[in-house]
Amino acid sequence: MQLSCHTLIVGAGITGLTIARELLKKGVDDIAIVEKENSLGAHASGRNSGVLHAGIYYSPGTYKAKFCVAGNQLMKEYCWEKELILQETGKVIVTDDSRLDSLLELKKRADQSGAKSIIIDRKELLELEPYSIPSEKALYSPNTAVFDPNQILTSIKEELTCSGKVNFVFGTSFLGISGCNKALTNQGSITFNKFINAAGSFADKVAHSFGLGSQYKVLPFKGTYKKLVSNRNYLVRGNIYPVPDLRNPFLGVHFTRGYDGDVYIGPTAIPALGREEYGFFNDISLETLSILGRDAVLFFTNERFRAAAMSETKKYFAKYMLNEAKKLVPELEIEDIEDSPKVGIRPQLVDWKSKKLVMDFIILKDGDSLHILNAISPAFTCSMAFAEHVVNEFYS
Ligand SMILES: Cc1cc2nc3c(=O)[nH]c(=O)nc-3n(C[C@H](O)[C@H](O)[C@H](O)COP(=O)(O)OP(=O)(O)OC[C@H]3O[C@@H](n4cnc5c(N)ncnc54)[C@H](O)[C@@H]3O)c2cc1C
Repeated sequence: MQLSCHTLIVGAGITGLTIARELLKKGVDDIAIVEKENSLGAHASGRNSGVLHAGIYYSPGTYKAKFCVAGNQLMKEYCWEKELILQETGKVIVTDDSRLDSLLELKKRADQSGAKSIIIDRKELLELEPYSIPSEKALYSPNTAVFDPNQILTSIKEELTCSGKVNFVFGTSFLGISGCNKALTNQGSITFNKFINAAGSFADKVAHSFGLGSQYKVLPFKGTYKKLVSNRNYLVRGNIYPVPDLRNPFLGVHFTRGYDGDVYIGPTAIPALGREEYGFFNDISLETLSILGRDAVLFFTNERFRAAAMSETKKYFAKYMLNEAKKLVPELEIEDIEDSPKVGIRPQLVDWKSKKLVMDFIILKDGDSLHILNAISPAFTCSMAFAEHVVNEFYS
């Protein structure tokens, strides 16, 4: 294969697809998207919780804060226009008295980011979620919704294909760059004028092949879920979340009623051995040793990482998950919970110079290439607004 195109995008996840959609709006008419898998949604974009977040958690001023609110609205409008699944179930964030201060801090963050949230009292909470812990106060997010991520990916792909200006090249891995504007793949080479890296968990590697972002390394975290047995689904009407530790980018064990009516508990964020280790030991490679090395270094040098790694690893045990979940829905019993096959990997970036977890998305630009790194949760929610920003501000 020898292809040429104006703009080459690596990765057909939600980031690559929404950027392609924005490029079409800008008049770019010759785009190739290379995707190493044979279908859409094999990785994070097809394996997430399907929650359209409302922008409550993120530090004001970050990309996440800025684009979650706008992205939520754009994705909703897209679902309405295309008649895709969207359930506006809302969400409550609950706590016992010991973390009321953190709940109020969340409210402050939400207000600063323009995210709609309402402090509600016990009576209002129990009207929304009758089986929730009866918090004296809770935070209600009316704009949180659930969607079917794979349906959205398919719809955007169809739109791009129908334009006649976007060529999907599946089963093709970007391997590196050769000389000027020539990408090497396992199927041959592709010449391009512009290059966009939207490779998800491999975005750091793709950037490194351009000599960019060498201080960033990926640490994969596995997100597994449990489910409520169907006759106990009534325990959760929408989404029930705890007040998270805002120093870490994880949201804690929570309940999500998916678009299919199933109620999921999770996801965990357990250190994984590979970027695509969805099963046990299914993605062991030479890199596993580096990943374990990175985990070990962070464990000893970063107190927050150590605390998160220790509490998350306990979530392998059903009893521990149950106890965490019972802090939100006290009526829950061990027989109410079953395993779920759903699993995703969060490719968390670490800045190796500072040994800190990177909390926001990263955009790197050099000449004709543009790289999106650390597009972790809530990147699906943010995607349409974020893509608009990337194309308007960085693509020229
Ligand atoms: C467990 C979990 C739950 C989540 N829940 C939510 C949620 O509820 N709401 C929300 O908004 N976000 C959520 N997220 C985050 C969200 O799913 C991701 O941030 C988002 O999907 C990332 O999209 P992406 O396109 O950047 O990456 P991906 O979806 O990973 O897409 C990247 C694509 O690039 C391809 N690729 C990689 N390397 C190459 C290469 N060398 N050559 C060719 N192709 C390549 C991959 O095959 C992949 O298809 C969750 C994530 C996880 C893991």
